[in-house]
Amino acid sequence: MTESPTLPANDWPVLEPGWVWLCGAGPGDPGLLTLHALNALRQAEVVIYDALVDERILDWAPKAEKIYAGKRGGKPSSVQRDISLQLVDLARAGKRVLRLKGGDPFVFGRGGEEAQTLVQHGVPVRIIPGISAGIGGLAYAGIPVTHRDVNQSVTFITGHDQSGETPNTLDWASISRSSQVLVIYMGMKHIGQISAALLAAGRPASEPVAVVSDATTPRQRVLETTLGALEADLAASGLEPPAIVCVGRSVLMRQVLDWQGMARGEAPRNLDPLGRGKPAESA
Ligand code: SAH
Repeated sequence: MTESPTLPANDWPVLEPGWVWLCGAGPGDPGLLTLHALNALRQAEVVIYDALVDERILDWAPKAEKIYAGKRGGKPSSVQRDISLQLVDLARAGKRVLRLKGGDPFVFGRGGEEAQTLVQHGVPVRIIPGISAGIGGLAYAGIPVTHRDVNQSVTFITGHDQSGETPNTLDWASISRSSQVLVIYMGMKHIGQISAALLAAGRPASEPVAVVSDATTPRQRVLETTLGALEADLAASGLEPPAIVCVGRSVLMRQVLDWQGMARGEAPRNLDPLGRGKPAESA
């Protein structure tokens, strides 16, 4: 579906010349765009988009010049600075500028830095949130990011530190203790170090783990494994970034909630994977 849906009302915000709207495009599936994002695409004269933005989404910006600002796996911050200054220049030239980022612009996407630079240069901004891969991507794999029987909190983690290199600056011991479910972005490159750190911090080798690559796209793949087997199984799977890693028992829910598998005619593997032993709706 590349036709642009009609918006239900005509009182949507206007993308004025000289403004930059910083907008999340969701994890991939164009249907996961917000209506505000669609409204922005239809008005934009320039769209600057990231590597993780599904190109089908750009079809909904017929009037716009499209500029690719691909940044994959932690390129130097000078690149980031160039993008921010390019946004400033375009706004000052009186363009209606849409900065489109994968997922949510403020979740591990440097959206905060870009918006700050714009404001520092006197450029007016609007922020349009998006569905983050660590929530929506897991949902497409049948994994609820919170589940009453599993977790009262969830921790979103980046597998890269500021230099883009190692996750060593994180306090893995305290993260391990404090959160039943961990959702790791950009974790593929350092998965060996990450799983070793979690095991050393006391997470059991048998703990369920899922890796969801290209989530919400037609190329989505899911690996189900355990923390102890993660590194080897991931290498054997051939899964590639972008991928979300989810550590915790909520991964087991996929055995009953793999709705995409069920849509293909597969039977649920286990109607009660957490062993509640009673219908889920009884308290
Ligand atoms: N702002 C984005 C995250 C940017 S960091 C968001 O809110 O989703 C980039 C990381 O996001 C990737 O390395 C990967 O871990 C994750 N990611 C983004 N899109 C994804 C997708 N379709 N499938 C799996 N992981 C994805």
